[in-house]
Amino acid sequence: MNDQQAQELRGTPVVGGKAYGPVVRPGERVAPVHDTATIPEDAREAEQSRFVDAAGLVAARLRERASHASGAAAEVLIATAGLAEDRGWIGAAGKLISSGSSAASAATAATDQFAALFTKLGGLMAERVTDLNDVRDRVVAELLGQPEPGVPVPTEPSVLCADDLAPADTAGLDPKLVTALVTRLGGPTSHTAIIARQLGIPCIVAVADLDEVPAGTLVLVDGTAGTVVLEPDPEQAQAAVDESRREAELVAGWSGPGHTADGHEAAILANVADGVSARAATAYPVEGVGLFRTELAFLDSAEAPTVAEQTELYREVLEAFGGKKVVVRTLDAGSDKPLKFVDHGTEANPALGVRGNRITARHPEIRAGQLDAIAAAARETGSTPWVMAPMIASADEAAEFAAQVRGRGLVAGVMVEIPSAAILASSILAEVDFVSIGTNDLTQYTMAADRMSADLAELTDPWQPAVLALISMVAEAGKRTGKPVGVCGEAAADPLLACVLVGLGVTSLSSAPAASAAVGAKLGGVTLDACRAAASAALATASPAAAREAATAALAG
Ligand code: PEP
Ligand code: MG
Repeated sequence: MNDQQAQELRGTPVVGGKAYGPVVRPGERVAPVHDTATIPEDAREAEQSRFVDAAGLVAARLRERASHASGAAAEVLIATAGLAEDRGWIGAAGKLISSGSSAASAATAATDQFAALFTKLGGLMAERVTDLNDVRDRVVAELLGQPEPGVPVPTEPSVLCADDLAPADTAGLDPKLVTALVTRLGGPTSHTAIIARQLGIPCIVAVADLDEVPAGTLVLVDGTAGTVVLEPDPEQAQAAVDESRREAELVAGWSGPGHTADGHEAAILANVADGVSARAATAYPVEGVGLFRTELAFLDSAEAPTVAEQTELYREVLEAFGGKKVVVRTLDAGSDKPLKFVDHGTEANPALGVRGNRITARHPEIRAGQLDAIAAAARETGSTPWVMAPMIASADEAAEFAAQVRGRGLVAGVMVEIPSAAILASSILAEVDFVSIGTNDLTQYTMAADRMSADLAELTDPWQPAVLALISMVAEAGKRTGKPVGVCGEAAADPLLACVLVGLGVTSLSSAPAASAAVGAKLGGVTLDACRAAASAALATASPAAAREAATAALAG
């Protein structure tokens, strides 16, 4: 570390807010065992039982802790207990023990096999490797008669720092004692991130050099900026934490609708997946639905849903928001969301393959049936949903889609997720009534970085100035044509970025409904001019960190 890094470490911000306190670290883990000694044949059965008993005990302890936890914490503990009882894993270790491995060595080797497989599968599976290694460490500690590894219970409010945190480490944490989570590894969808969101404590992942910060070091964590300041001025650090608490109170009191302090409107909308999530979203201060991901309801369907089945689903969502704006997205099948009833074929690069609107060339009946169902649900509920297509790359594709949608009396739009669509936003907007920017995929395709990769967290950050430049092009095209330009990727859940987006000219912000109040409260505290200044300042930077800093400074005036 050079001097400057010693003062401030940076990572990927996951949950906003500030915390100040000493660093605590999880207890030492046992080193993975790779012994080469052979267990005599007559002792192998006993060794087998020792392994099964240890795995069973670890699973039972995790279940016991789950019974004292609730919500996501309980779910992750139960899922980890399931890994300790996984038949495939136990079978793989059992085979090794039968051929002479010690139980501890077999647990390690079987975990390595599964970890390699999970890593190869990538995405969410790769992020489960931490959970699997956690189970191994607990089982090996048990076999060696050592204490179970894990997080100590701090005696004062502390910042938990680790390489990565397994569910069993994070579930059941007391947010009064563990006031922030910071990890060296992990991505925005890792368990650490999920638990931090549930506990409502700041969280930063992918912080390089974190292992060089010893336990006991006083740190100020800024989960919005993604910074960890080492040994800051105690008074200033406490003042920063108090200020962030006041902001949290403003958020708690915010009830919509979305506008800047000087009255410039920007609708705050919800992303939903079905009737249940739509009804749940109405409990938040949102003005409608900005993205209804229809494919999520059909991930397990072996057969294509009938028009009647789909009509029922769409009707539920339209009814939940009776008369308010609802933007329905046609099936975004393929890549990370393959549908069994769509013949995706074998693709070397599914993210660049036949996904989203592109499946229509092979299966025109799927999109036609879906549009018929949306139109039927619209008639039954007396509403006029907006309908948009995912993965549009050209103005021709937008025109073809718009003709189908308008032919059914609906409002037509497309998503801007591919850089070509951003570059040609003017021609695309000439064909449709609105666009909505999917910043998750737009970032992935602009930066050529897999959105599921934990290693590429810096590149898959929507604050990348190249991504902001493309959003700016789309927003400018929206201003010229007077047509709405929404954002419906997770970027819209980041309060600071939301101000930049509004400053760029974005007209609505749609994301997980739980983010709505934080976004609305932040926007309500700044003027449109300040948002514009923040947008210009962020656009002029060369990195996500610099863009965040520049936007923060510009908004502070
Ligand atoms: C996006 O890509 O930003 C988006 C909203 O679509 P999804 O996350 O469903 O791909
Ligand atoms: Mg997308």
